[in-house]
Amino acid sequence: MQIAPNSVVSFHYTLTNDEGEVLDSSEGREPLSYLQGKGNIIPGLERQLEGREAGDKLQVRVEPAEGYGEVQPQLVQEVPRASFQGVESIEPGMQFQAQTQGGPLLVTVTKVEGDTVTVDGNHPLAGQPLNFDVAVETVREASDEELEHGHVHGEGGHEH
Ligand code: ZN
Repeated sequence: MQIAPNSVVSFHYTLTNDEGEVLDSSEGREPLSYLQGKGNIIPGLERQLEGREAGDKLQVRVEPAEGYGEVQPQLVQEVPRASFQGVESIEPGMQFQAQTQGGPLLVTVTKVEGDTVTVDGNHPLAGQPLNFDVAVETVREASDEELEHGHVHGEGGHEH
C-alpha cells in the first residue's frame, strides 16, 4: 500500500548536511515509525514520503522552511551566570530547559565569557538544508487507538 494520511510508516534514514557530514542516522537501530499526516516528523519529509511504498529508496531534500525553520536571531541571548543556580560548571554544548513567554524552550549554551553565558534557543538543525537517504520498510493502516492518540504504538512507537 502507498503512504497516505493515517498510514503507519517505518523507515530507515541517514541525514546529511550539504557538506556531506552525517548528522543523524537510524543505522544500527530500529527503523523510525511515525503516523503520516499528524506532524510526527518534519513537514518536508512527510510531504515527500506521501505516495511511496515499502521497499522504496529515495533521496529527500528538505529546505529549512519545511524542516526545523530558519535561524531566529532573537532566540540567541546573553544571560548572567547567576541565573543558572545550582549548576556548578557551565560549558558550551550544555542544554537547559528555559521558561519563556511561549512556554518551555530547550536552549543550548554556545559561549561562556566571564559572568555572561550565551544561550541559543534555535533547533540545532535550524537554517540548514537537510538531505535524507530514506528506505521505506513497512506501511500499514493505523489502528483506531493510534489515530486517537496521534502517534504510533508498539514497535518503534509509544509504549503505554
Ligand atoms: Zn498513544
